Amino acid sequence: RAATLPAYLTGLNPEQSDAVQTLDGPVLVLAGAGTGKTRVLTTRIAHILASGRARPGEVLAVTFTNKAAREMKMRLGQMLGQAIEGMPWLGTFHSIGGRILRVHAELVQLKSNYTVLDTDDQIRLLKQLLAADNIDDKRWPARMLAGLIDGWKNRGLTPSQVPAGEAAMFGNGRGGKLYAAYQERLKILNAADFGDLLLENIRLFREHPDVLRQYQQRFKYILVDEYQDTNVAQYLWLRLLAQAPSQTSPRARGEVGSHSDPGEGAPPQIADSQLAETPPHPTPLPARGEREQAVALGENAAPPKNICCVGDDDQSIYGWRGAEVDNILRFEHDFPGAKVIRLERNYRSTGHILAAASYLIAHNEGRLGKTLRTEDVDGEMVTVTGAWDSEEEARAIGEEIEQLQRQGHALNEIAILVRASFQMREFEDRFVTLGLPYRVIGGPRFYERAEIRDALAYLRVINSPADDLAFERIVNVPKRSIGDATVQLLHDHGRRRRIPLYEAARAIIETDELKPKTRGSLRDLMMSFERWRAQRELLPHTELAQIVLDESGYTEMWQKDRSADAAGRLENLKELIRSMEDFENLQGFLEHISLVMDRDGGSDEDAVSVMTLHSAKGLEFDTVFLPGWEEGLFPHQRALDEQGRAGLEEERRLAHVGITRARKRAKLYFATNRRIHGSWTTTIPSRFLDELPGDHVEITESKGGSGWGGAGGYGASRFDDVGAFGSSYSTPGWQRAQANRGRGTGSGFSESPSSFSRGDFARKRAPLTIEGELV
Ligand code: ATP
Ligand code: MG
Repeated sequence: RAATLPAYLTGLNPEQSDAVQTLDGPVLVLAGAGTGKTRVLTTRIAHILASGRARPGEVLAVTFTNKAAREMKMRLGQMLGQAIEGMPWLGTFHSIGGRILRVHAELVQLKSNYTVLDTDDQIRLLKQLLAADNIDDKRWPARMLAGLIDGWKNRGLTPSQVPAGEAAMFGNGRGGKLYAAYQERLKILNAADFGDLLLENIRLFREHPDVLRQYQQRFKYILVDEYQDTNVAQYLWLRLLAQAPSQTSPRARGEVGSHSDPGEGAPPQIADSQLAETPPHPTPLPARGEREQAVALGENAAPPKNICCVGDDDQSIYGWRGAEVDNILRFEHDFPGAKVIRLERNYRSTGHILAAASYLIAHNEGRLGKTLRTEDVDGEMVTVTGAWDSEEEARAIGEEIEQLQRQGHALNEIAILVRASFQMREFEDRFVTLGLPYRVIGGPRFYERAEIRDALAYLRVINSPADDLAFERIVNVPKRSIGDATVQLLHDHGRRRRIPLYEAARAIIETDELKPKTRGSLRDLMMSFERWRAQRELLPHTELAQIVLDESGYTEMWQKDRSADAAGRLENLKELIRSMEDFENLQGFLEHISLVMDRDGGSDEDAVSVMTLHSAKGLEFDTVFLPGWEEGLFPHQRALDEQGRAGLEEERRLAHVGITRARKRAKLYFATNRRIHGSWTTTIPSRFLDELPGDHVEITESKGGSGWGGAGGYGASRFDDVGAFGSSYSTPGWQRAQANRGRGTGSGFSESPSSFSRGDFARKRAPLTIEGELV
């Protein structure tokens, strides 16, 4: 029988195979890290396509990052070869939302060439609104309002849906009004912010059931990776699409909970088996906040479709950004008749790594709990290494990497996962010194550099002249004596006539409102823009970009600049144009930019990856370095302060995600001293280190050996030699703590070799440190 299976199905274990082949009705794969959830999802798409159940355009697959989407596309290509033409709708919630929105932009008061604003634009716009409303930006910062608005959008709330209590949280009760004004302003600018890509899409679906129906009919199969990290807006969007399309619009409140009559044009694609499995009267949901607002509108009425979500409650790490792990816990409720499949075999990590990660996460209370096993060897123990400070930490890791490299380890298979992005600089500096190639993933993005943003602003204006923020950014860059007063004049003019700045500028140069010099230079600029816009149709976009940068004087501005980084900026501009080559046209390129959440390495060079733990989700590497395991940094103080126990549990899940990225080597570090926001602090090792199982973890000494007396070689000391380990610290409190710890726990380990928690790496030490240093 196996011989008849298509190649992509062989090698799956029975549960995975079940998840791939159960195509009718809702399926939830709830399973731990490295059990093949993503692989199942990809194989499932291949199976749907190869078996002819749907055409590529009828499959919707959602990944958490753009990078993950690209990877999935590549895998699909490998599985299917040339057999299939076209690709499924495969991308992040936002990229797919944006794609749909662009087609129907007019229905939500946008034009199809709308611009997607980034955070900076957003802030600038909000500042203008605050100023117009005479709200003190010092007391009520625009950033705070931006945060509130993002939060509301993540929860799928339009301005009129914001609860009064929350609207009152900003500007003496003006939060809601400002949100409304902001949305209105975006429409005038023909712009959307990131949250709008989904929110406006939801509004589109709600206000235009015919459009919704079109997509419901189109998408025969919906697949979602990392389901544990969906927020309410994403959830609502999915729920809308995952209903079987119905002819009648079940908007009346009276219809809540009753199943909507499919009516005449009953959708043909509902499989019989699905109808049989789905109760005719889905249970009405309990009222639970916003999520149910949608339900109350009747959007829950139709039976669910072929939706397959995969996720792991232990890897829910975006609660701080509005993700609701509840979504995964409620799946069976939301999609009646759902089949839940669990996968237990981990294919990624060796035994010690899996044991360490499982043991750590077992300290969380709020979890479903699951079994994970591996058939792999035990492999190398997880290591914990103390360094004097973050510089030495970086040096030690640099040396370890060089050593691995000498042993033939590919740099591509090495990652450094940090808790906070500020930690990256130290590694970047170190790697530059060592000449060690590295790439920052998801970090300070290339496209966010000032010179890149300027160049992009020019291109944005050419693409969409109503893009006021872009226009304003470059109208006087390089300097062309168009000062603030002139810009203000353009604003006034634009507001009065409700036209964009670009149009206002074109009108004003025909009058004598401006000083001759200013008028002349604005006229030159406007004529250039008109010319570039015309050339856009004739020239390749890369060529156009080069012309724009040269003719605008922007390139020259940096060529004349004497500052140290000017040369680098010119190189970046070159790189920008190179990067445009990957796209068909300007529109496509700009769209990509606005959606790039994660930057790719840019080249195929063998390089170490540096990224935050948050952006490491779903990835895997042979060797993973995890620096900065210190109280306050990891778990992060802010998470503890703001969310207490829930915050701590989310941090622990993050630690779990970090360790489970490793296939063969997980190397944890802590620094005894760290400079945070400019001042030195003595640190306490993370409580998470205490929570690791002693017989899977090895304490090693920093290899950096930089003058703090790193006695003994790397890897020489085991945890039971902790006295020796401790003696290399120069802080008295630490020495005592270490010594005490060694005495107190020596026997504990042999009695209960499975856990460090008796030794209490941090908790026991913390009071001692206080004793030694403060009392
Ligand atoms: P995470 O929760 O971290 O996202 P995951 O559950 O999505 O993990 P995958 O990334 O799909 O797991 O798989 C982990 C690794 O195990 C991958 O390298 C994958 O190719 C491999 N793998 C999965 N299933 C099998 C299998 N049946 N046989 C061999 N290797 C497998
Ligand atoms: Mg995965």
